[in-house]
Amino acid sequence: MTASDPRPALGLRPVINASGTMTSLGASIVVPDAITAMGELLPQFVEMGDLHRLASRAVARATGAEAGFVTASCSAGITLTVAATMTGPDLAAIERLPDATGLKDEVVLLAGHMVDYGAPVEQAVRLAGARVVPVGQATSASGYQVAGAITENTAAALYVVSHHVARYGMVPLSTFIGIAHGRGVPVIVDAASEYDLTGFLAAGADIAIYSAHKFLGGPTGGLVAGRKDLVRATYLQNRGIGRGMKAGKETLIGAVAALEAWEQRDHVAVRRRERDALDHWLSVLAGRPGIYADIEADPTYNPLDRLRVVVVPDEARLAAWDLVDALAAGDPPVIARDHEAELGYFYLDPCNLHPGQEFIVGRRLAEILDEAQQRNEPLVSDFAARKMRQEAAILNWPD
Ligand SMILES: *Cc1c(COP(=O)(O)O)cnc(C)c1O
Repeated sequence: MTASDPRPALGLRPVINASGTMTSLGASIVVPDAITAMGELLPQFVEMGDLHRLASRAVARATGAEAGFVTASCSAGITLTVAATMTGPDLAAIERLPDATGLKDEVVLLAGHMVDYGAPVEQAVRLAGARVVPVGQATSASGYQVAGAITENTAAALYVVSHHVARYGMVPLSTFIGIAHGRGVPVIVDAASEYDLTGFLAAGADIAIYSAHKFLGGPTGGLVAGRKDLVRATYLQNRGIGRGMKAGKETLIGAVAALEAWEQRDHVAVRRRERDALDHWLSVLAGRPGIYADIEADPTYNPLDRLRVVVVPDEARLAAWDLVDALAAGDPPVIARDHEAELGYFYLDPCNLHPGQEFIVGRRLAEILDEAQQRNEPLVSDFAARKMRQEAAILNWPD
């Protein structure tokens, strides 16, 4: 929290983000260069086609692609690149979507990649008027299944790289690309959260899509990178279904500035600071009853480690999810990474902390765990009821 923190005056809780890059918390800390660039351009007029050309060059340079395109989000990027594989540069077909009559309209997607990133990935495909052809099962997918799913109606093959997807049993990307290309089908990679800006295209993907607002610290946006003909056809969707997903001048220039800042960032120093936070939390948690913490590498090999905190309720005197909830309810509120809390652990992610916040997180952990030790009975709330409460709360908005 800084002196100019607007949140208290707005009645918004001054949450500390120890969960990573979460859309539900406002994604990431936007880098100063992007904020400046957006502020300077917002009052001015530009010829948007030229600004899109500039952004295309910036995305291309950062990714090694032939061309790039900036849209509203990675999710929009999935929809619009799928649309591009269906219509090509045919403006009449672009205006007809999502009516896909006469167009190839099937998109091959591994069942283990049918994840929810806040919305279902399949829906982003269907928005273009396409149909998803699932391949394999939740935790297995073989090359012959990919090959068997491709028909003369296949417009594209979509591959998701994410901690959300099944972590084993999936056809590797290189195999997936080889099979798709062998049948003339372009491959789109959803790499929303992946730090590797060049590897998926270098591996042969035709398109790679990133979120501007995640690790890059840009404004909310999506970066589409890849083959020039496909990126052009993606850009042209702005005359059709892309209109409602368009990025404004602030997003384009903010994303360009964030890409440049990313190239100049001292990644070693960032990593060291994140490691210091993890080490601090390890020292706070060391020797506490029922708490077993270890540093875990990112599941998709991003240069990012998290602290996994295993909580044994009988000894810690509370359950993992009750510790998470106590952190979130505290002063200040600390939001931990709890996707897997029912398994008895949660994560602390240092990548979106402001300097010094690791000490506040450490203090809150110690306070809650000290307090729990006073309990006669461990606090283990009903996990199923907690999940139902969270679901019900969504439906109460705006109350
Ligand atoms: C976050 C995410 C998305 C959606 O990205 P947005 O830019 O927020 O639309 C898509 N796919 C994956 C794997 C993600 O992690």
